Amino acid sequence: MGLDGSATAQAADTALRPPVFIGSEIYRGSSYGAWHPLRIPRVSTVMDLIRALNWLEPGQYRNSPRAKPKALHIWHDPAYVSALQAAEAAGSVSEAIRMRHGLGTTANPVFPQVFRRPATSAGGTMLAAELVADGGVVHVPGGGTHHALPDRANGFCYLNDPVLCLLRLRALGMRRIAYVDIDAHHCDGVAHGFHGAGDVRMFSVHEERRWPYTGAIDDTAGGAAVNLPVPRGLNDTEMRAIAIRLILPRLADWAPDAIVLQCGADMLLEDPLSRLALSNNAHFDMIRALRRLSPRLIVMGGGGYNPWTVARLWTGVWGVLNDRAMPAVLPPAAQAVLRALSFPGNRLGKNPPEHWFTTLQDAPREGPLRPEITARLATLGA
Ligand SMILES: [Zn+2]
Repeated sequence: MGLDGSATAQAADTALRPPVFIGSEIYRGSSYGAWHPLRIPRVSTVMDLIRALNWLEPGQYRNSPRAKPKALHIWHDPAYVSALQAAEAAGSVSEAIRMRHGLGTTANPVFPQVFRRPATSAGGTMLAAELVADGGVVHVPGGGTHHALPDRANGFCYLNDPVLCLLRLRALGMRRIAYVDIDAHHCDGVAHGFHGAGDVRMFSVHEERRWPYTGAIDDTAGGAAVNLPVPRGLNDTEMRAIAIRLILPRLADWAPDAIVLQCGADMLLEDPLSRLALSNNAHFDMIRALRRLSPRLIVMGGGGYNPWTVARLWTGVWGVLNDRAMPAVLPPAAQAVLRALSFPGNRLGKNPPEHWFTTLQDAPREGPLRPEITARLATLGA
């Protein structure tokens, strides 16, 4: 069973114009360093795959502009933005800057594109907001850096491109903005940004007892958020229940002007940083359902630390947004992109299963709906 049955609102507008993909070459060859989870290629692989699949019609690709510092100051502290630029120029930071802004740490190292890359992601999500102003669908897989704080790098994130996107949507006149976050980690930076906001509703499903340890079930971010921490091993059946009982009906009732989905890949089984067990069908189903609930949908990336999992999910997202049939076996050019990936320093890279090279869509990972999930949904009134 899919999620479509629960959708009540219709949004025919989204079908009027083709979806737009926002990418950039800045992601190609850019790495946080040899030992960092973000040493792997992600957006560049997705770009290569959708081209290998011939899934880009003329006019569907937009190059992500790099946000100007002034555009970032709408939420970020100008001193922090300056520090980020200076860190890129110098290739290092002082101890004072490390303490003050969280730059040059193990999680948030100074790397060669440490300003340009996050500023490009931010420019991409703000462009996405503009592109959907009159209705439409945008996929911006470089976005989704949901941990960054106004004056501080946090959790592999330097600039909070979801916050900047939502602020742009608000500036464009959106009065009801929904933010759905299905990353394995709680969206602490976004929750900070919209605490108590009357025009934003945030939904976050994330693994319990995992960094950043925020987003408890009784944390409503001043009435603006619904938080559902989930236990290890979350399966497709459970995620479908969460969508059908909680997220989709609440969104349908609220009739958002726009929906922003942070579509992190780290809830999937093969991700090395979390312990959840979804297949990518869970994310595809969520997107199909969200599309029906608003005339505007922006799908971002987010976490995701297995290069094959990330590439197959986010490429599949683009396929779903374009109503493409998911190929049972990928054509040779697409397989070549996946076979060229490596995963140094991780056991998953030693002997990857063949289906990581030959398919986009996982086998479903259904399972029992555990009583603790049902109980937590009940706690949230669902
Ligand atoms: Zn994450």
